[in-house]
Order: sequence, then C-alpha cells, then structure tokens
Amino acid sequence: MSQIVESFPLNIIDEMKLFYKAVLTPAPNGAIFRAKTNNCVITGYRSGKVLFQGTTPMEEAQKWGKHAKLSHMKVAKSDVGPFHPPESLYTSYHIGSDEAGTGDYFGPITVGAVYVTPATGEKLKRSGIKDSKSLSDKRIQELANEIIALKVPYSLLVLSNEKYNTLQKRGWTQGKMKSIMHHHAIKTLLKKVEDQPLEGILIDQFCEPSIYKRHVHSENESLPRGLYFKTKAESHSIAVAAGSILARTRFVQEMERLSKKVGFELPKGASKKVDQSAAEIIHKHGPDYLATCAKVHFANTHKAEHYL
Ligand code: MN
Repeated sequence: MSQIVESFPLNIIDEMKLFYKAVLTPAPNGAIFRAKTNNCVITGYRSGKVLFQGTTPMEEAQKWGKHAKLSHMKVAKSDVGPFHPPESLYTSYHIGSDEAGTGDYFGPITVGAVYVTPATGEKLKRSGIKDSKSLSDKRIQELANEIIALKVPYSLLVLSNEKYNTLQKRGWTQGKMKSIMHHHAIKTLLKKVEDQPLEGILIDQFCEPSIYKRHVHSENESLPRGLYFKTKAESHSIAVAAGSILARTRFVQEMERLSKKVGFELPKGASKKVDQSAAEIIHKHGPDYLATCAKVHFANTHKAEHYL
C-alpha cells in the first residue's frame, strides 16, 4: 500500500467528486469527498490536497496529473510509472540505448544499443566507459574500439540527412524519428540476443514514455516487453553509456566523411559558426546541397542567409 498527495484547484476537486460519484463513500472531516475504486481510495480535502492511497495509486493520480499544481508535484510521472526501471536492472542482463547528433545542425542522427551481462557490464566499467558527453572525440573512439573488442552484442543506426529532411517534410517531428530509430535499433539487437537472458531494455529518456509509445504504434509496431525509460540513464546503466559511445563515435565519423565531401571541416552544434559554414556551403555548392549534410529545418538555414 502506498500513497501520493498532490494539490489541485478546488474546481478540479469538485470535478473529481463528480467523476467518482458512483463510488463515493462517507467523507472524513475536512474532506470534500472520498471515493473508493478497485485499487485506490481518493480523498479530496478543502485545503486543495488530494490523497491517493492503494496498491497502485499512481494510476489514479495520473488521471488528474495535468491539473495538479506543479509546485506540489512530488515526483515526475516517469519516475514512478510502469516505465520506471527497477534498480536491479542496472547490474543485470539488459539492453541500453542512446542517440547522438540530435542538436547538431550538420550530420546525421545515430542510435546505438548495447546488450550487457553482469560480467560484460563489469568489463566495460573497468575499461572506463561513461557518459560520452564528458569525453573527447579521441577518447570516445578509443572506448568504442574497446566495446567492439569485447564483442558485446550491439546495433547501430544512422539516419542520413537526406532521409531526415524527407521525413521532416512529411511531418515527422525529431521526437518521432528518434523514437522509431531507438525502436529499430532495439529490435535488431533483440534478434541477435534472443537466446540470452534479458531483464529489460533501458532507453535514455528523451520524451515522455507515452509519447514514445504513440510514435511506435503510429508505425504499426508494438513495444517490446520490459521497456524502461530514465533520464540521464547513461550514469546508471553501462549498457546505455556504451550505446551513447557507439552512437557518438559513428556521428563523429559521419561528420568527418561529410566534411571531406564539403571540402572543409563542418562544425558541431548549432552555433553562429554553424550559420557561417552553412552560408559557405550555399556559396560553394548551391542551397540544395544543404539537404545532403544538414538538418535544414533548423533556424541555422535561415540565419545563413545573413552571411551571403
Ligand atoms: Mn541521450
């Protein structure tokens, strides 16, 4: 039995009373209503507090979450919901996945997913693998080589700029592209490890799990069993950290390849320097060329015009 307390505007508490009218029970002192569902007792107080008690109170509380006064929200929804990983997952047999390139104007999006066992997880940790954001490109490449040398099963996906721009024009958000990429990277890896033990799959969270689910369903795909999300997952799971290193390495390699093609070094990120490089590309190769090496819907495309 657990409980959640949240604060709501009084008109919402009145709305709750109506919503639960078929299951109302006598309200205690100071309460506007009390209702009892199959697995939750909900009590709305005149103070604006609402108490959800039961075996799975979050399920009931989530129905009203969007009306809750944010300052009183104790925990993020994704920190308790069905998609929140158990602590034991991090040291167990699991898959972790992460992406790179999403905030960079130039270059593709890449997603890396890695399968670890308790034993390979330990080996990866000893080789110094951690969040790729805190490492230099050179160090990331070295670590990627170690991951590959350890022969841990992995999958790596690249969404080229051409494909990215086509999907974007078709109405796909970047969130949908990322979701579908994670989904396919995981699916591919699941096939590779189908005979091996697996406690769960962890995605470094980039959107609400419900939105991820919607994207996957919109492509007529279904979520694999044991799927979890966590923000900053790379600092908890060595599989996610390794996935981020593979994704980052591949992103850097693609940037080198594109730079050679363009004829000068393409900058990472989305800064002013990026605007100038975009202008240089338009000047050298024409505006259509950008679609082959950049995420053209970023504001940088427009800003580049100032330099022409
Ligand atoms: Mn990430």
